Amino acid sequence: MTTDWIALEKKLYMGSRRQPIVIVRGEGTRVWDEHGREYLDFTAGWAVNSLGHCHPAVVKAIQEQAATLTQTSNQFYTIPQLKLAELLVKHTGLDRIFFGNSGAEANEGAVKLARKYGKQHRNGAYEVISANNSFHGRTLAMVAATGNPHYQESFVPMPEGFLQVPFNDIEAIKLATTPKTCAVLLEPVQGEGGVNIPSQDYLRQVRQWCDQQGLLLILDEVQTGMGRLGTLFGFQAFGVKPDVLTLAKGLGGGVPIGAFLAQERCAVLVPGDHGTTLGGNPLICAAALAASSWLIEHNVPDHARRMGERLMNGLKAVQRRFPKEIKDVRGMGLLQAVETHRELSSAIVSASNAEALLLNPTRPTIVRFMPPLTVTEQEVDTALVRFERAFAKAVAA
Ligand SMILES: *Cc1c(COP(=O)(O)O)cnc(C)c1O
Repeated sequence: MTTDWIALEKKLYMGSRRQPIVIVRGEGTRVWDEHGREYLDFTAGWAVNSLGHCHPAVVKAIQEQAATLTQTSNQFYTIPQLKLAELLVKHTGLDRIFFGNSGAEANEGAVKLARKYGKQHRNGAYEVISANNSFHGRTLAMVAATGNPHYQESFVPMPEGFLQVPFNDIEAIKLATTPKTCAVLLEPVQGEGGVNIPSQDYLRQVRQWCDQQGLLLILDEVQTGMGRLGTLFGFQAFGVKPDVLTLAKGLGGGVPIGAFLAQERCAVLVPGDHGTTLGGNPLICAAALAASSWLIEHNVPDHARRMGERLMNGLKAVQRRFPKEIKDVRGMGLLQAVETHRELSSAIVSASNAEALLLNPTRPTIVRFMPPLTVTEQEVDTALVRFERAFAKAVAA
């Protein structure tokens, strides 16, 4: 007997929006649906499966750790968590770390840290400046930090202490800074907001301003971190060092994890300030350690940069063939987007589903490409052919 999973979902869930595909298996850049149909996955679990689906190093680490020790609570020391902490501290150049379960949680922790820092070092300052079109997660405080009124409307009143300014505008940050400000929270490249890339000196100017004013610079690299932009961390591509860095998505290679790291001078959290039951448990950290070590040892960010150039060249060629429809092609590394003049995203993604290419319609006019960082040249080329066919269909419909 076959089950109609899509009908079952419609009956059981609230607030979900999915493509009509039931994915049952994945390997590398490919996934298979319940009917055995194969797709190229250029969504990668929303920039999570950086080594692709079921990478052997990650599978092995999960299997071994599952049979050894999965959860202890943070009342005790565990070795996978400490090894992962050591790796991340070393490669970020930051000093201290805290593990949670998700990106939103990582950002929450970072904001708690910033508020405590403001109390101690800036006369009780607590306000966090973030950017329009940003995305920082779905908890109440992170919805307040997220610069998208649509995500806030149904849930007002918002927690206090957050305000947004235009992205890529240093003067706007300067104007919004008051004695109440404790931190600036930014994505180096805005992901969910449509792959918005700031000018090369923006983050350096923000860094300078934060130093002058005694504000913390929190970089949300939940999406851009762990190689997505073609460097291990996005901040390296922009020549700045944050005070606080948040990571999640790609860090676990497919398992739920988040982390925030801080420089010593602002690592103000003490025992009792913050905590988590499952955050950084041995199972998750073993997987994240395997994924992160493999990614670093095999120089995957550099591969991502090269594959990103190939994808970008291909998308620009499509743009040249559809100059009236495609407004912009942009991206860094393997975080890229095609922006159209008309609201074509849904139509493009439906058509690309039919062409066996999975994409993400992040805005009505913006389709996002974020394949595994291990994607091959041939897979990029195949995806481009499928995308162009899907695009032509969507435009003609
Ligand atoms: C996805 C995302 C988040 C939220 O992460 P969750 O794991 O869904 O809580 C936060 N910030 C950025 C930049 C993201 O892309």
